[in-house]
Amino acid sequence: MHCPFCSAADTKVIDSRLVADGSQVRRRRECVSCSERFTTYEAAELVMPRVVKQDGTREPFDEDKLRAGFLKALEKRPVSMEEIEAAVDRIKFRLRATGERELNSRVIGEEVMAELRELDQVAFVRFASVYRRFQDLDEFRAEIDKLSRDAATPMMSEKASNKDDVTSK
Ligand SMILES: [Zn+2]
Repeated sequence: MHCPFCSAADTKVIDSRLVADGSQVRRRRECVSCSERFTTYEAAELVMPRVVKQDGTREPFDEDKLRAGFLKALEKRPVSMEEIEAAVDRIKFRLRATGERELNSRVIGEEVMAELRELDQVAFVRFASVYRRFQDLDEFRAEIDKLSRDAATPMMSEKASNKDDVTSK
């Protein structure tokens, strides 16, 4: 692999480890010529199912769109890029694991909700309110009820107080 700093053709691997639950290899490389170091990721290229939208049209699975959804929901929330990438990876893994060639866009929405619920309760409610708006209000309320029940389990006070703001009205 060519050095991205000086374009020398020869770089050596100085560290190699499995990341993303073993679905990727992360390599630290050092340029033999200029000694700059950089990181590469290697992953198997597998075909993702196509996405069937609400109106019946099909489109290719778009990882950037998925990531953008997380970033929007997690704006100004204390969640690292690393955690978001891990969530994106888990969703991709589960979507591939269905073995389906096509998946309803709703399935992906549900996956995002499931990950957000684990990552950040405030972001989860934020996303859910948008995602559910034109769908099933009962389902949305059920999610909120679920959050209230979960509040019984100990968690960070900031999250807990924000959540109370959302659930009590
Ligand atoms: Zn170099």
